[in-house]
Amino acid sequence: MSDQQKMEHIVSLAKRRGFIYPGSDVYGGLSGTWDFGPLGTQLKRNIMQLWWKMFVDERHDMYGVDSAILMNQKVWQASGHVDTFVDPLVEDTETKQRFRADHLLKDAGFDVDGLGLDELTKLVRDNNVKSPNGNELSDVRTFNMMFKTFVGPTALGGVTDQQGEAAVNIATGSELIAFDPSSVSYLRPETAQGIFTNYRNIVDSFYPDLPFGLAQQGKAFRNEISPRDFIFRSREFEQMEIEYFVDPDEWEASFEHWRQQVWKWTQALGLPDESVHELEVPESDRAHYSKRTIDFEFDFPIGREELLGLAYRTDFDLGNIQRVSGKNMDYTLKGTNRKFVPHVIEPSFGVERAVMAVLSNAYTEDEVNGETRIFLRLPEHLAPVRFAVSPLVRNKPELVEKAREVYEILKKKYGAVMWDDSGNIGKRYRRQDEIGTPHCVVIDFETLEDGTVTVRDRDTTQQARVKIEEL
Ligand code: ATP
Repeated sequence: MSDQQKMEHIVSLAKRRGFIYPGSDVYGGLSGTWDFGPLGTQLKRNIMQLWWKMFVDERHDMYGVDSAILMNQKVWQASGHVDTFVDPLVEDTETKQRFRADHLLKDAGFDVDGLGLDELTKLVRDNNVKSPNGNELSDVRTFNMMFKTFVGPTALGGVTDQQGEAAVNIATGSELIAFDPSSVSYLRPETAQGIFTNYRNIVDSFYPDLPFGLAQQGKAFRNEISPRDFIFRSREFEQMEIEYFVDPDEWEASFEHWRQQVWKWTQALGLPDESVHELEVPESDRAHYSKRTIDFEFDFPIGREELLGLAYRTDFDLGNIQRVSGKNMDYTLKGTNRKFVPHVIEPSFGVERAVMAVLSNAYTEDEVNGETRIFLRLPEHLAPVRFAVSPLVRNKPELVEKAREVYEILKKKYGAVMWDDSGNIGKRYRRQDEIGTPHCVVIDFETLEDGTVTVRDRDTTQQARVKIEEL
């Protein structure tokens, strides 16, 4: 099976079995958006809860926050996102279809790392690179990926002129009303800024020892030029981010600490070490705020791509907040008079990319009794369903009753338990294999006699008899 076929199988299984559906599917979809069904929601939740447990609950130096998605526009001016959160865009001069210039050139075999707009344009011109439709391409220009919106009753539905200073008639471009430019806001493109803006609040409320970290999970939005590769590049997705505040003299030790923590995380997701790779990002490719970045890449079926990032953000963000807001961001080191703006180590995790890595790592095909079997080899602690419970046959009330009893016991204990009594046993096993259920519990006539049930293991397909109370 090729990687491309594997990807297609995963996308189709995800839809068929209720993990992930295309967003707004009944209306023909909305590019770059995805809806999680019951099993996908549970898988995602298990991943997010695992993260929270590892990085907040089990540590002594972390504080959780949950900030608003809509923030004052000054946040995004101070952070540099209004000016520099851009991707290179190129247009098909005939169809007006737009593409990400660097992706187009990379797909055509060119090395584009660290190239600016003019250099990308030159590559296009010198090599006569055409759009995927075979047409001429425009010059490469920048496109800001933030979704702009307007807070309050202003701007007649939100169409503005290019400077964002007046509401315009969409057909003619003529000015309709002047409006208050301070109503402009953005859907946050990262959760990090909601952490930085609360740094002062947390220091004032808790006066934590340095180093300490703030953690947040939540939605982020990026108007990606070309969303692609299933949930890998979406326009709406979820992030789990930590801003870890450190003494500037000690950033290297903290960076190393988080580098190790990231490896613990990929292992907790069940990803084999040999499929995860560190990429030391050269300066020319780093985000505007970073002095050092390691991208952790994973061997997805779409190729080796970024799973998560670890960046040394220096005092860039707190420094900007201090400058623009005029509020002091100093931390006074306990027991000393030493004051400084802390520096920041940021591990930034994408939930959808974690889900995609876990799903593609779990997807397996083997042969059982001469037939191809599809199953998800999910780690038990991530599986959306841990136990499926069924009576051997449906038409024996005493079996059904006993099975219900066992189901209730397990449900109370584990939560993630499914009742499954349709079709024959073989079909039920196949269905549960496909969604990655580690254990199928079957109640049969022996159960009524000696209180044992059959437990069938997903990976080996072996069955064992186990006492109900030992489940
Ligand atoms: P890429 O280079 O792949 O666009 P990035 O370097 O812009 O990613 P960051 O800004 O470092 O990504 O964001 C942190 C994390 O958020 C990424 O490692 C990834 O897991 C996730 N992420 C970023 N953009 C997307 C997206 N469009 N869809 C899904 N997850 C994303």
